[in-house]
Amino acid sequence: SDHAFEYPACPSKMDWSSFYPAFAASAERPGSCGLRDDKKVEIADIGCGFGGLLFALAPRFPETLLVGLEIRVSVTQFVEEKIRALRNKHAPKTTSTSASTSTSTSEPGAPAYAIPSVYQNVACLRANAMKFLPNYFAKGQLSKLFFCFPDPHFKARKHKARIVSATLNSEYAYVLRPGGIVYTITDVDDLHRWMVEHFEAHASFERVGEQDLEQDECVKVMMTETEEGKKVERNKGQKLVACFRRLEDPPWP
Ligand code: SAM
Repeated sequence: SDHAFEYPACPSKMDWSSFYPAFAASAERPGSCGLRDDKKVEIADIGCGFGGLLFALAPRFPETLLVGLEIRVSVTQFVEEKIRALRNKHAPKTTSTSASTSTSTSEPGAPAYAIPSVYQNVACLRANAMKFLPNYFAKGQLSKLFFCFPDPHFKARKHKARIVSATLNSEYAYVLRPGGIVYTITDVDDLHRWMVEHFEAHASFERVGEQDLEQDECVKVMMTETEEGKKVERNKGQKLVACFRRLEDPPWP
């Protein structure tokens, strides 16, 4: 039940430092939410499963913090273990006190942050994304939200359990910045139509056109790198993609 979930009362009470130690605030570099002041989580994978998307995106966005939200304990633990293993494997061989960073190559005058090694920017959080998203993320904090092969909940009486709905889409609009993108992919026709219908009906979103999709590297990664996507591939199933752009809020009347 939800009593088993720990979650912050509001985003400013969330301490991300143990999730991203290489980007943690310090006495010399104070910040907020446990992170240095130029860093916040910006990409979220909702229902990340075993983390294939996160591990493929992390090296492509080395300066951006990514998080996977996953409701199952054992799956979350698996992803956490894999993050630890990848960080260890890619830690620079150094005698310095920090094992997770290499030396800074900053220009004169620029902040002298050390350059974190790969996979320091990825984390996994056990959470029920249908309930606690605004507890973790402030208004407009995220630039990308992924819904890869969400559970289809086929039966009509189960549709309320779907992770895309009119109400939840308002939460997604809240945490995404204007211009931010929602990525969806599924092999289930009915769920694809449902997601398109619900995002298109929402005043804060517009569908992203085919041309823009073709140029978006994240779409390619989403189509090939998730565990569920690989399963669909093996079974020669279809992959239905739809993305939606967060619009600017209209001015107050
Ligand atoms: N996205 C992954 C992929 O493409 O390989 C996993 C897809 S799997 C079919 C759906 C995942 O969503 C499962 O791992 C499930 O535990 C997770 N999930 C379902 N409801 C959730 C919720 N409310 N909050 C967080 N995760 C959820």
